[in-house]
Amino acid sequence: MTAQQTGSSAPTGGDSLVALENVDKWFGELHVLQDINLRIRRGEVVVVIGPSGSGKSTLCRTINRLETIDKGAISLDGQPLPAEGKALAQLRAEVGMVFQSFNLFAHKTILENVTLGPIKVRGIAKAEAETRARELLDRVGVGHQAEKYPAQLSGGQQQRVAIARALAMEPKVMLFDEPTSALDPEMIKEVLDVMVDLAKRGMTMVVVTHEMGFARTAADRVVFMADGAIVEENTPEEFFGNPRSDRARDFLSKIL
Ligand code: ADP
Ligand code: MG
Repeated sequence: MTAQQTGSSAPTGGDSLVALENVDKWFGELHVLQDINLRIRRGEVVVVIGPSGSGKSTLCRTINRLETIDKGAISLDGQPLPAEGKALAQLRAEVGMVFQSFNLFAHKTILENVTLGPIKVRGIAKAEAETRARELLDRVGVGHQAEKYPAQLSGGQQQRVAIARALAMEPKVMLFDEPTSALDPEMIKEVLDVMVDLAKRGMTMVVVTHEMGFARTAADRVVFMADGAIVEENTPEEFFGNPRSDRARDFLSKIL
C-alpha cells in the first residue's frame, strides 16, 4: 500500500471506492443535499431509502456528475470527479447507472444496445464486444432476445438488458435508482434476482429502492435520507429492527 498523499486539498477518499465529503447542493432555494458524508467501500452494497423528494435521485446523479454540487467533494477510486471533457466521459464509463425508466435505444436491437458503449467509448472491436454482450445477456436471462428490439420485450426483460448494458462498460460501481418502480409486480423479482447475483459477485452497488426484501437480503448498509440529509445509517438488521430516529420509524411504519 502506497502512502496516502497528505497536505493535498484533493480528497482521496481513503480506501473508499466512492467518497462524498460535506456535499451540499441547492436547486435555487431548495437545499436538496445537506452536508452529505458517505463512503462506500469496494464490494459494498448500500441501499438508500427515504421519502419521495428526500434527495435520493439527486445523490445518485451527483456520483456520476449528472448533477454538479455546490460545496464539498466527491471522489471515485481516490480521484476527484473531473469537471468536463474526456476525463468526465471516462469517469461516466466507470459508473454504471440503471434508472426507473429503462432508457434503451428504441431503434437499436438488444445486442446493439449492449455493444454500443463498449465499441464507441471503450474502443473495443465489434466481434469482441458482441461476444461479451451475449455472455452478459445470457447472465441476465435474455440471451435469446438479442436480435429483438426493446419494444418487443417485457419491462422486466428491458430492465435486465439495461443492467447488462451498464455492466458491459465494466464499471467500478453500479448505481440503481428505483430500478423496479416502473415494473409490474410479477417482473420485480426477476430484476431483483439479477441484482442479488451481482451483489454476490462482489460488485460495489448503490441502490435506491423501496424493496425492503432486497435491502434485508443484499445490503451491507442501509442509508436513510429525509429532507436532503442522511438521518440514519446502519446494517439492515439494526435499521429495520431498531430504527433510532423518529423520521425512520415513521417512514418504516408507512411502508412495512
Ligand atoms: P427523491 O429521489 O428522493 O424522490 P429527488 O432527488 O428526485 O428526490 O428530488 C429532491 C428534491 O429536489 C425534490 O423536492 C425535487 O422536486 C427537487 N428537484 C429534483 N430535481 C430538480 C431540478 N432539476 N430542479 C429543481 N428541483 C429539483
Ligand atoms: Mg428519486
